[in-house]
Amino acid sequence: MTVGILALQGDFREHEEMLRRIGAPTLQVRLPKHLEQVERLIIPGGESTTIGKLLSMYGLIEPLRTRIRDGMPVWGTCAGAILLAQRIANGRSDQPSLGLMDVTARRNAFGSQLESFEIDLPVLGLGDEPLRMVFIRAPVLEDLGHDVTPLAHLDDGRVVAARQGTMLATCFHPELTPDERMHRYFLDM
Ligand code: GLN
Repeated sequence: MTVGILALQGDFREHEEMLRRIGAPTLQVRLPKHLEQVERLIIPGGESTTIGKLLSMYGLIEPLRTRIRDGMPVWGTCAGAILLAQRIANGRSDQPSLGLMDVTARRNAFGSQLESFEIDLPVLGLGDEPLRMVFIRAPVLEDLGHDVTPLAHLDDGRVVAARQGTMLATCFHPELTPDERMHRYFLDM
């Protein structure tokens, strides 16, 4: 089971290292032909406007939409979650995106003052032990559709991880901590 990692921009190498540690074969996805060789895909954190532009330039938007609609498991972390969302708040009007998951991703939800922070919170499906979450200019998820299950929320109720069928979105970066549980969860999807 080869796990594709979208490698246009952002922290794809950290995902790759984590999967290597778990023992899952990976492939960097940059072109539509790479997509044909993978069974699932991670869209990493980075800058959603840049990744969106590159997706469009490399002709990846439609092939990706088709694969994901056909049930290929996909996981977007941070910028990747923004790219998966059907609606983007605080985005740029010309921001290309996949627009598949029935959520609103509110970009830079923690303001520009607070660049990054870490907290420990439980995640549905990962057991009792809280997960260390690293947030970097992170979005939150709002207006979850009926088919979307929230997996984790902040103390104020804002959702930071959710799943809709074979689509997973996390606003934080599990690839930046040693905890493998979120990656294993994705591999089990
Ligand atoms: N703020 C970034 C964006 O809008 C996301 C940041 C991240 O992926 N760490 O794309």
